[in-house]
Amino acid sequence: MLGKSTVTVHADREIHPDRAVVPPIYQTAAFSAEEASVFAAGAIEPRGQDFYTRFGNPNHAQAAAVVAELEGTEAAMVTASGMAAITTAVLALASAGDHVIGQKSTYGGTAAVLLNLLPRLGVSTTLVDQRDPEAFERALTSRTRLILVETPSNPLLHLTDLRALAELARAHDVLTLADNTFATPLNQRPTDFGIDVVWHSATKYLNGHSDVSAGALAGPAQILDRIWSTSLLTGATLGPIDAWLLLRGIRTLPLRIPRHNANGLALADALSRHPAVSQVHYPGLATHPQHKLAVDQMNGFGGVLSVEFAGGYETADAFLGHLRYPRRSASLGGVESLAVHPASMWAGMLSDDQLTEAVPPGLVRLAAGLEDTDDLVADALAAADAVLTTA
Ligand SMILES: *Cc1c(COP(=O)(O)O)cnc(C)c1O
Repeated sequence: MLGKSTVTVHADREIHPDRAVVPPIYQTAAFSAEEASVFAAGAIEPRGQDFYTRFGNPNHAQAAAVVAELEGTEAAMVTASGMAAITTAVLALASAGDHVIGQKSTYGGTAAVLLNLLPRLGVSTTLVDQRDPEAFERALTSRTRLILVETPSNPLLHLTDLRALAELARAHDVLTLADNTFATPLNQRPTDFGIDVVWHSATKYLNGHSDVSAGALAGPAQILDRIWSTSLLTGATLGPIDAWLLLRGIRTLPLRIPRHNANGLALADALSRHPAVSQVHYPGLATHPQHKLAVDQMNGFGGVLSVEFAGGYETADAFLGHLRYPRRSASLGGVESLAVHPASMWAGMLSDDQLTEAVPPGLVRLAAGLEDTDDLVADALAAADAVLTTA
């Protein structure tokens, strides 16, 4: 099997239509056909490359080829955002009367799909505590069609036992979809444990430079064909330039992830011993309640950690204000460190009650970038010190 870096550099080689070393940007909304039969075939070819950009584009196909190879799946597709990926997937795979299981700790947008969008369309949903594999089994009904998981979860870094979940779902003929945004295929490959479909906010680590909104889905071609058909209707098409930037970003993923992992672990370790901090959530810490599972299903633990301050929201906010390098921002996964107060970030997508259920008010999410480890740790400790002095 090829190494990850070779894959990210070469997996799209066959899709280069000419001799340019770097693929050109196909900034075109449509392609032409000389014959009626070619035109007609293009209209129905899933994830084709030369019919109409909403149906597919060479820049989409190139980025998707690398994602599929990295995730170890038969096929992949790209979308205009991570939310486009998951919403299109559930609209494609669930119908009125069906039941979908999700997690209590999950990205705010995914929570809003499960709590607000799907029930409006007649799809019932149950959110479970992912740390308890049996909770998924208890939530199963004869109408359950899909289970959506996210591991590690945003922002609490709870883990899902992927092997146990996939086994359970297969036994009941239920499809599993895993959000692999936080781990990336470098740190975890959900399909190795039997998960059916993987999705990403490619806005984050896959692109890696905070300059593109994009999403990706990877899985068996037959399932992606269904999602692709629905994507023609949701129309959340990734622009060719953004697909090109995404491909350019993915090329260096295997170089970036080890530094994110090292910075995440160093920050988690240092902050977990600071007196202003009541708890650090990071699966790489030996004290994380699911550390054993993390070691079993992950190769690295990522750049995101979340930190709870004993003083609640005020202290969390003061900490954010004292940080010198991580700026206050809703994203993660880029070269620069960012920090955010998740309860404020998701207020537009969830009701107050849903928010209180999802995240503690004093929680700060820190996303370590690629800066030097010592500089990030010194900065975070100084900010935590400042919080104590002013308290
Ligand atoms: C950001 C994020 C999303 C949403 O992706 P967008 O690209 O912002 O639409 C989904 N899941 C996780 C874990 C995320 O961090």
